[in-house]
Amino acid sequence: MSGRPKIFGHLMTEVIRKGTCVSCGSCVAVCPVNSIEMEGGTPKLVGLCVACGMCYANCPSAEFDVEEMEKLVFGRTRTEEEVDIGVHSAIYAVKAKGTDILEHCQDGGAVSAMLTQFLSEGGDGAVVTGLEDGAIWIAKPVVASTEHEVLDCAGTKYTSSPTLLGVCSAIEEHAMSHIAVVGTPCQIRGLSKIETGEFSDAAIRDAVDLKLGLFCMETFSYPSFMEFLEKEGVDASKVEKFEIKKGKFMAHQKGKDIYAVKLSKVKDLVRPCCHMCSDFASEFADLSIGNVGSPDGWSTVIVRTQKGDKILKKAEENGLVEIKPVDEGRTGRGIILKLAKIKRKQSEKHGE
Ligand SMILES: Cc1cc2nc3c(=O)[nH]c(=O)nc-3n(C[C@H](O)[C@H](O)[C@H](O)COP(=O)(O)OP(=O)(O)OC[C@H]3O[C@@H](n4cnc5c(N)ncnc54)[C@H](O)[C@@H]3O)c2cc1C
Ligand code: SF4
Ligand code: SF4
Ligand code: SF4
Repeated sequence: MSGRPKIFGHLMTEVIRKGTCVSCGSCVAVCPVNSIEMEGGTPKLVGLCVACGMCYANCPSAEFDVEEMEKLVFGRTRTEEEVDIGVHSAIYAVKAKGTDILEHCQDGGAVSAMLTQFLSEGGDGAVVTGLEDGAIWIAKPVVASTEHEVLDCAGTKYTSSPTLLGVCSAIEEHAMSHIAVVGTPCQIRGLSKIETGEFSDAAIRDAVDLKLGLFCMETFSYPSFMEFLEKEGVDASKVEKFEIKKGKFMAHQKGKDIYAVKLSKVKDLVRPCCHMCSDFASEFADLSIGNVGSPDGWSTVIVRTQKGDKILKKAEENGLVEIKPVDEGRTGRGIILKLAKIKRKQSEKHGE
C-alpha cells in the first residue's frame, strides 16, 4: 500500500455503511490506541484515531486479494483443480473417539479433538465460541485452556461472535503465547490479514499457532433469529442444539428433533453480509472443517498446511480420532465443491 493509509472513516463508508461488516472484531483487535469498540455487533470509533491504517488494512471485508493472500499463507496460488475450495493437500472424513467429545460436538468432533491434541502438546489455549451466561443463545468468544472448557463450547452457534476479541483476550488478559483459533471463513480471513503483510500485528501473528476454519454458508441475525423461533413456537432457551443439514434447519432437545423446516423458510434471517461472502470452505485455515461430504456423525477435514496435517496425524496416533479418505464421488468431494461454487456465484450476484 502506498500514500496515506485508509483509516476508520474508510471502514465506515466502504464496509460498515454498505452492510458488509461481518462483525469479526479484527479492527478492534488491531487498533493500537484501543479506539474502536464493538457495539451490538458493529464497530464504533470511541476515542482518538491516530490514522495508522491498521483497522482498514486488516478488515476481511475491505480490499481482499485472494491470490496475494494465497502466496503469503501457502507460498503458492490455487491450481485449476483447487479453484472451488482453495489450496489443499487432502480431504478426510474424521470422527473423534471416546464419548466425551462425541456427546458434546456438532458433527464428528474433529474440531474439539484437534483442540484437545493442541492443548496436550503444550498449547496455552484455544479461542472458541461459547454462549453468554444468563442469556439465550448469544454467542461470545471464549478463551479455553482445558479440554473441559473446549467441550463446554463445542457445537455450532448460527449467529456471529467477534472471535478476534477472544484472540486479544487470550494474549493480553490470559498472557498466552501459543493459541489455536476456531473461526468462520470471514474470521479466518481477518486473522490471516493480521498475520501477514505490511500492516500485520506482531503480537497476534506470533501467538497464533493454529487456525481451524469452519465451513460456512451463512449466519443469522440474532434478533431476527430469536423473533422467528418465538413465532414458530420454539422455546430457544430449551434448545440444546441447532443444526443445518441436507437442506433443513432443525432444533434438538434431549437428542430429539423438536423442530425442522426447509432451509428456504429461514433465508430471511441471514445477515446481509453473508450474501456477499464468497468463502465457503475457510480457504486460509490450516485445517477447514465442516459436515458436508462425510457420513452423519463424521466431520469433513480439508488439510491445507503442513501444520494442519501434523496435528491431524498426531491426533490419530494418540487415539483421539479415526480418519478415512473422503468419498471422491457426488456425496463426498462433489458436494463440497458444489456448495463452494454456489456460494461464490451467490456472492457475485450480490456484488462482491
Ligand atoms: C455459522 C456456521 C455455519 C456453518 N455452516 C456449515 C455449512 O453450511 N456446511 C457445513 O458442512 N458445515 C457448516 N458449519 C460447520 C459445522 O456446523 C461444524 O462446526 C463442523 O462440522 C465441525 O463439527 P465438529 O463436530 O468437528 O465441531 P465441534 O467439536 O462441535 O466444535 C465446533 C467448534 O466451532 C466453534 N463455533 C461454534 N459456533 C461458532 C461461530 N458462530 N463462530 C465461530 N466458531 C464457532 C465452537 O466453539 C467449537 O470450537 C457451520 C458452522 C458455523 C459456526
Ligand atoms: S488509530 Fe489506527 S486502527 Fe485505530 S481507528 Fe485510527 S486508523 Fe483505525
Ligand atoms: S474488521 Fe471485521 S468488525 Fe471491523 S469493520 Fe471489518 S468486518 Fe467489521
Ligand atoms: S457466510 Fe461468510 S460472512 Fe457470513 S458468517 Fe459465514 S463466513 Fe462470515
